Amino acid sequence: MKEKPLHRRKLLFTFLAALAVCLLIIVPIVIVYVTKNSAALPVTYATLQAEIDRPDVSIYYIPHQDDDAIAFSLSIAHDLANNVPIQVHLISDGANHALQQIMATGLYHCEWHNTNHSFPLDDQDISRIRTQEFLASMAALNVPPDKIHLMNLHDYQTPAAWTADLYNQLKNSVKEQILTNHAQYPNALHHCSSGYYDFDGPRNPVHLACWDAATEITNANLMKADQFAFYRTYVFYQPPSHRWSQMTMNFSQFIPQHQLSVEAYQAYDPGNGQYALGMHSVPILMNNTIVDGIIYLDFLNNTFPNNITVS
Ligand SMILES: [Zn+2]
Repeated sequence: MKEKPLHRRKLLFTFLAALAVCLLIIVPIVIVYVTKNSAALPVTYATLQAEIDRPDVSIYYIPHQDDDAIAFSLSIAHDLANNVPIQVHLISDGANHALQQIMATGLYHCEWHNTNHSFPLDDQDISRIRTQEFLASMAALNVPPDKIHLMNLHDYQTPAAWTADLYNQLKNSVKEQILTNHAQYPNALHHCSSGYYDFDGPRNPVHLACWDAATEITNANLMKADQFAFYRTYVFYQPPSHRWSQMTMNFSQFIPQHQLSVEAYQAYDPGNGQYALGMHSVPILMNNTIVDGIIYLDFLNNTFPNNITVS
């Protein structure tokens, strides 16, 4: 092979050296840019499917004592079966004056027991017993007690009582909890309720807080959108044919655990302090949630079409 003239080889060497230097400068800039802006990138369906199926760590934020049984228990059972480390935070203190009225005043007819209940239960009793039912549901799912955290934030219940200031306090408390967890478990998937898309009447502030907190966190590039999954609860007011969300997953192999979680809210033995408050509060949701083992999910900033079913 004929040798290249010396000046051409020198030129080639200079060109390659310059190219290498350029790449050394440009590549890190591109990496930093992409990483910095990845929170704003759309979440893909494949990423989310993998995230839900095998998270490194799962952190649950349950709005109320009963939402675990209605919306989250299939996923919790799925994580535990796959040895995914989990943490569960219960947001609300369980305050529910309407439920106290149903159980204690004798003014409301209970179709289940065909009577008007007048148990000696005040508002504090209702909070305490609802949380007992939640802990019984967690025990039924075999969630280790040291993984359960009661945030005990007050639920002001009515739209009039939830002033903007009180809602911001709630949202900021949830936001702080998420960021604290993120600092400890940077690769965790955070499971919230889908307060923005999932409602029955006015959006429930305790269901919405996690959505709004996550939105602020991702907008500030503190976490990525695919670190959050949002579960629908009120969708179970609909018959299965009318239920929808942005993505569903079939966890039907965990229906037996789901059943046990619901039963914790149906345990009725007033002589022993069990009043089935979950069942008295939301009987339709409790009865409707166990059908087919489907969870209904929404996500921040995703690109896929609505109502994808994954089995
Ligand atoms: Zn009853």
